[in-house]
This record gives sequence, C-alpha cells and structure tokens, in this order.
Amino acid sequence: MTLTKKPEKRPAAASWGLTAGDAAWEYAPAPESTDHIQIRPEYGLFIGNRFSPSKPRKTFEVINPATEEPLARVARASRADVDRAVTTARSAYESVWSRLPGRERAKYLYRIARILQERSREFAVVESMNSGKPIKESRDVDVPLAAAHFFYYAGWADKLEYAFPNRTPRALGVAAQIIPWNFPLLMLAWKIAPALAAGNTVILKPASTTPLTAYLFADVVRQADLPPGVVNIITGPGEIGMDLVRHPGVNKVAFTGSTAVGKMIGRAVAGSSKKLTLELGGKAANIVFDDAPLDQAIEGIINGIYFNQGEVCCAGSRLFVQESVYEPLLDKLKARLGTLRVGDPLDKNTDIGAINSAGQLAKVRELVDSGIAEGAEIFQPDCELPSRGYFFRPTLFTGVSQSHRIAQEEIFGPVLSVLTFRTPEEAVEKANNTPYGLSAGVWTEKGSRIFKMISAMRAGVVWANTFNRFDPTSPFGGYKESGYGREGGQHGLAAYLDLAG
Ligand code: NDP
Repeated sequence: MTLTKKPEKRPAAASWGLTAGDAAWEYAPAPESTDHIQIRPEYGLFIGNRFSPSKPRKTFEVINPATEEPLARVARASRADVDRAVTTARSAYESVWSRLPGRERAKYLYRIARILQERSREFAVVESMNSGKPIKESRDVDVPLAAAHFFYYAGWADKLEYAFPNRTPRALGVAAQIIPWNFPLLMLAWKIAPALAAGNTVILKPASTTPLTAYLFADVVRQADLPPGVVNIITGPGEIGMDLVRHPGVNKVAFTGSTAVGKMIGRAVAGSSKKLTLELGGKAANIVFDDAPLDQAIEGIINGIYFNQGEVCCAGSRLFVQESVYEPLLDKLKARLGTLRVGDPLDKNTDIGAINSAGQLAKVRELVDSGIAEGAEIFQPDCELPSRGYFFRPTLFTGVSQSHRIAQEEIFGPVLSVLTFRTPEEAVEKANNTPYGLSAGVWTEKGSRIFKMISAMRAGVVWANTFNRFDPTSPFGGYKESGYGREGGQHGLAAYLDLAG
C-alpha cells in the first residue's frame, strides 16, 4: 500500500547537483510594463465592425486572475443580440465576402497577421493580465503562433482548388465559433483564420473569463479595414453559446472546450445540415523509455504538463516511465520542479502563472485531494505563492494506479501523475486506457520504436522526443471523447468548406 505524505519540502540543493550558492540565488523582479496598455472600462458587442451595448443593456465583470482585481466590464449578449450578429454575418457573407476573389480575402488576412505582429507586445500583456498565463508564454508562443495562423491561411485563400484537386470547394456560409479560456487569442486565430480564408463569415464567442484579447482583436479587424460583418464577436454565458449553436442561420459550428459541453453541442446540431468540429479534453500519456536522453526528457515532461499552468487540452498529464530509469528520472524531475518560479504572470522570469479562475482552481484542488485520499503520494516544491490570486504549486503524484481519478480525469492544472511500465506493449496498453485520445509523447533513441508506438497509440497527435509543439501547417484534433474533426493545416481548411461538389 502507498502511504500518503504531506507535501515534501524542496530537496536540499546538494541532492539536485547544485551548490548551496545556486539554490540561494534569487531572480530580481522583471515585470513587463503595462504603461502602454489601454483596457477600456467597458466593451460592447462587436457586430458589423461597431461596438454596441447588448439589448437589454447588461454587462458582467472581467477580472485579472493573478490579482483578483477587475479589468473591465463586457456586454452580456441576449438571444436578440445573437440573432442580430447572425443576421449581420449572413448579410456580409452574401453581399461582400462570398463575392470576393480569394486573392482579395488573402490580402485582408495578411494585413491582420502583420497588425498582430506590430501590436504583439500589447496583445501579450493583455493576454497575460486576463488569462493568468506567464508573459514569456503569451509573448513567445500565443501571439506569434496566432499571427502565424493568419499568415498560413492567407496563403491558402486563393489556392483552394489546388488544396482540394478535382473538387469545387465552396464556403459554408456563417460559422459560429465558441472558444475556451486557456489560449484565448490563439484559439481565436485557429478558428477565424481558416474560416475567413475559406470564404465564410464568423461570429465568435470567447469564454466569459477571457474576452479581452478578442475585443482587442476587434480593433485589428477595423484597422485592417475588413468589410463590416465579416468578423463579429459577442460575449455572454454558456447559454448564449448554445443560442448561437442552435440559430438556424448558422451553417458551421466549431467548438473547443470541455467534453461535457461538446456532447451537448453535438446533440444540438444532430439532424441539421450544420457542419461540426469539436476539440475537447485530453489525458495525454508521455512515455519515457530507458534509452531516452533523460535530461532532455525532463524538459519535455516539464513543458508537457506545466506549460500554461497545465491548462492545456493536450497536456502530458500522465507520465509513464520505464521501470529501470524510474528512480533517476524521478530525482531529476523533483529537483527541476523545485526550480520552477510561480508568481506574477507579468514577470518575465515566471514559469507558472495564475490559474484562470476561482472555479478552475477549486476543480484542481478537488482532484488533488482525491489523489491523496485514494492513496497516491504527493510531491510539491516548497515555493511561496503570492498572497492574492489563483495560484497552485506545481505538483506530482507517484504511487498512482490506473483507476485513480487523477489518472483518468482531466485536471487542467499543474498536476502530473507518474506511473511505470516494463515493456512497450504494457506502455501502449496503459496509454490507451483512457476515454480520451488527443495527444501523446514518446521519448526514446530508437526511430523504429517511435514509429511502432505512434501507430499503436490512439491519439490524434504524437510528439517524439519533444512535447507541446504547434505549427499552423500541422493538423490537430482527437479520437474518442477528445472530439472529432481537425484544426490546422489543410484539414483545418476542409472543415470550413463544402467539398461535395
Ligand atoms: P466549457 O466547455 O464550459 O467552456 C468552453 C466554452 O464554451 C466557453 O466559451 C463557454 O462559455 C462555452 N459554453 C459553456 N457552456 C456552454 C453551452 N451549454 N453551450 C455552448 N457553449 C457553452 O469549459 P469550462 O470553462 O467550464 O472548463 C471546464 C473543464 O473543461 C476544464 O476544467 C477542462 O477540463 C475542460 N476544458 C477543456 C478545454 C480544451 O481546450 N479542450 C478548454 C477549456 C476547458 P462561458 O465561458 O461563458 O461559460
């Protein structure tokens, strides 16, 4: 039986191969300036290139999860507003966007990509303030990748016949797009860029906790001089998302979020002619064989589960280690965990920022408590957390069995479950023992083993000797309860086209 222990203290510096001087060394604060950032006190709905209040006029508060301070108020759309947005998108589709040649649509997309690059610092800071993610991630990952998606799909806009030879690709019409809070701007780009390149108009509903970069993007839409009604952005609770999904004027629904809501959306569009893509949860296996370069694997494991506080659908939340290297790997992993800096998302040295909301923090805590109650052994470095804000220590569990909730359920937080295996067959069987099938990782020196594992694992994306790599040219999506359809690459373009003709 595994005994439950209280969080361990940070290991002594000597046991990490560091000198005492190294361990005592502290980083000076390096906060990104917010002087140039202008967040308006209130945002209306963005419909037809204009911000307007909801009808009836209602708003809700958006906060900074790292400080719990309010950032702005945003409009709460009503069913009538949903209808107004869909009508506006339909009219823009019929009168302008569907009539433009692909090369003209491409010019707008290139313009958006360039403006995102020009305003990247502003976007990165607002993204970190609103979502809680570290500035080094929003600056180096979210914003550049969002711009890259617009560049990539701009390139396809006038080449649809070449992308799908012997077909007559046609736009679907009006796309309803619902996105989550973990990558607010990047998910916006994943949704809007292929939709516009394919010739559709869109209505985007961001998550209620993270609408600010979407409304900043509305400014970019106007700056790029996009025809009114091509991109519309509305905010409101989940039920408004469902009104949008059910609206008869919508031809395509794209959703990223929880499996529970994805299933509800699947049921809502069943029997209609609406095309649907669902990108849902995950419980990825990250498998380390005994011939893997361990130090490199450690960085991959850290990136796999602690990137974006673990609030990542494809996070490597289940680590499988071959038994012969379990002990050295675990020692290195615990030592590395102790070096992660948790705190102010706007500090350039921060590795782990704030959890996105009080509700998500409560979910993480509940699942961690269940891991302890079910007999797994917890390890957390003894790092200090800020006194305000929704922070959680990087956590790992050993002594985890396949049936534990922490090995089965998506935690969506900085929590890793460590398990072991002896043979490749056992690794595959354990890795596939999940209702999800979004992503996986394999660490080994043998190319042949990589190929064997890739074909045996039921996961939409498998990374080899790396983790959490994204590229606009590469399709992304899952099996089983992780959803269906693909985003990114040519597959992502096909999801916004009628290719039947
Ligand atoms: P949700 O699935 O509830 O939210 C995702 C988006 O869907 C948000 O825009 C949300 O709006 C909207 N939404 C909520 N309910 C409905 C509905 N009935 N019809 C249409 N749209 C709806 O995720 P949560 O924020 O509640 O997170 C819960 C869990 O889901 C997380 O702990 C994580 O495990 C998983 N998750 C997975 C994500 C992924 O990338 N695959 C992303 C986010 C969460 P609103 O914000 O207004 O509620």
